[in-house]
Amino acid sequence: MIARETIGATSDSDQLLHLQLPYPYSMLRHDTDVMLVGEIRDFEAAELAIRCALTGHLVFSTLHTNDAPGAAPRLLDIGIEPYLLASSVQAIIAQRLVRIICPNCAEQYTPEPEALAEVGASDNALSPAAFRRGAGCDSCRNTGYLGRTAIYEMMVMNDEIRQLIMDRAPGTTLKRAALANGMQTLRANGLEKACRGATTIDEVLRVTQDDRDAINLGP
Ligand SMILES: [Zn+2]
Repeated sequence: MIARETIGATSDSDQLLHLQLPYPYSMLRHDTDVMLVGEIRDFEAAELAIRCALTGHLVFSTLHTNDAPGAAPRLLDIGIEPYLLASSVQAIIAQRLVRIICPNCAEQYTPEPEALAEVGASDNALSPAAFRRGAGCDSCRNTGYLGRTAIYEMMVMNDEIRQLIMDRAPGTTLKRAALANGMQTLRANGLEKACRGATTIDEVLRVTQDDRDAINLGP
């Protein structure tokens, strides 16, 4: 829900008018360089975040989607015009949390070939000996995990992706363009962390979706 507040009211009529103004107007009047809009759930919040961005502010916000490229169709879906989106967004970062392997009971192991193939490890000629898992101990209540860390993917805007957004391209098309532009997917980033022994392949598979469709499908 958008919080509302009175802004610069000098009379009763002003107050009635200003009570209808959502909070980013108040933020704009403060003339900050950087703004954080807690979460974009609806058209009103999205439009105002973009309006703030277009008037020279660096705006950070959050949005619930499956991956970074999915944020663009999501914002279009809630009513943002493509030209506004294409001209205001600089980058979209997706994040998932994965559990960290318990340091007290971590052990090396060789994952099943099927799991390696599913996470994309076989495509990268990785050494299976690099992988670890938690055997379970008192410290981790026999779960094999202790704490969590984040895995990321970041889609950086370029002319091609801006044009795709103008054309209302689906998320899979945006994802292919972002991959061609060097984006590392959530799953690939998770695999990298699994290779360093930070988390397990099972965790990465649990919180990420299959990249192969987007990578293998033609334009
Ligand atoms: Zn443990």
